[in-house]
Amino acid sequence: MANCLFCGIIDGKIAAQVVYRDERVVAFKDINPQAPVHILIIPRKHVAGVLDIAPEDNGLIGTIFEVAARLARENGIADGGFRLVVNSGSDAGQSVFHLHFHLIGGRRMSWPPG
Ligand code: 5GP
Ligand code: ZN
Repeated sequence: MANCLFCGIIDGKIAAQVVYRDERVVAFKDINPQAPVHILIIPRKHVAGVLDIAPEDNGLIGTIFEVAARLARENGIADGGFRLVVNSGSDAGQSVFHLHFHLIGGRRMSWPPG
């Protein structure tokens, strides 16, 4: 989609440290990491957010969780623990409207989140 930052990363028009890509999913390092490991996992398909996930995207969402588990293992945070976070809307602080899952780990985290 035009004017979408993350579509620009998928297309290679905007630079990012890509750590995983396949035919449906791309993952790259967050530019402003909140933990030693902070990776964003996104569908290649432009979906604006959680509220825009369609029934036909179910397989895609499952794949994203598989990629998250794989990246957690590869980045050494599977055993210690990690978070997989999706911010939705303004109260949650969503700032990029292309669905993305934050894979965050490598430090102790508190609950509830701020
Ligand atoms: P949100 O606030 O929408 O849940 O998360 C958006 C995330 O995208 C933020 O953690 C922010 O640091 C990250 N981000 C914003 N712009 C860029 C960029 O140009 N490159 C990368 N790699 N991450 C970005
Ligand atoms: Zn997009």
